Amino acid sequence: MKNDSFELKFWGVRGSIPVSGPDFERYGGNTSCIELRHGDRHIIFDAGTGLREAATALAKDGVRNVDIFFTHSHYDHIIGLPFFKAIYDPNVSVDLWSGHLTDKTTTRELISQFMRPPWFPVEPDICRATMGFRDFSAGETLKPHPDIVIHTARLNHPGGCIGYRVEWAGRVIALVYDTEHVEGQLDENALSLMAGADLVVYDTTYTEAEMPKHLGFGHSTWQEGIKLAKKAGAKRIALFHHAQWRTDKDLDEMQREAQASFPGAFAAFDRQVLVL
Ligand SMILES: [Zn+2]
Ligand SMILES: [Zn+2]
Repeated sequence: MKNDSFELKFWGVRGSIPVSGPDFERYGGNTSCIELRHGDRHIIFDAGTGLREAATALAKDGVRNVDIFFTHSHYDHIIGLPFFKAIYDPNVSVDLWSGHLTDKTTTRELISQFMRPPWFPVEPDICRATMGFRDFSAGETLKPHPDIVIHTARLNHPGGCIGYRVEWAGRVIALVYDTEHVEGQLDENALSLMAGADLVVYDTTYTEAEMPKHLGFGHSTWQEGIKLAKKAGAKRIALFHHAQWRTDKDLDEMQREAQASFPGAFAAFDRQVLVL
């Protein structure tokens, strides 16, 4: 029987650094990691600390093929990779994808530069899985499997960042985070990724009040996300990449305000599952 479900699971919704403690219990403290399941395929976007738990779930489901796409290589998006059990499993194949950013670092170099002493005890050659290293340039359209199309575009972030638009069986998810908006100017790349999307995952690290003190940090606000979502005709928007100081109470409040201006808005939390 053909499995045509398209499911998104948030394994990590926090930005910059993981957090824990009583103030962060409901939304969670893991950094960026999103899993898409389309049919029998598993695609992961970013290897933040949320990837550790995703690894356990994938192993339990007996998943043998995984693709991981990086938006960029800041620590909060890569630090979970050495703890992704699948890379040590000879029965699994893992393809890692990254877009060229401001330099020409390849995906293979990116991994071997951070996964080695003195930063980590072992080097990538310890991986027993069949590892694929794939490079692309922002703007390319990717087809990791015959039935899925992934459009890419450059976002506005220090050192660069890739935004993704994933299309499968008539459904669209846009991942637009680790990006800063320019006041009074809707980002054309963000709009094209988000056009008519069923779901947008957007960088809402800061509030409008916090934004002036964080110009150049490469992040955005829920207000900007909603402006973009409305203009792009998107149905829902997940507030994502929560600031490390944003407590459960703060996020409840942010969600309430965002929903008042766009009913399809919600604040993403760790282990949240959405079926599209
Ligand atoms: Zn980040
Ligand atoms: Zn970043």
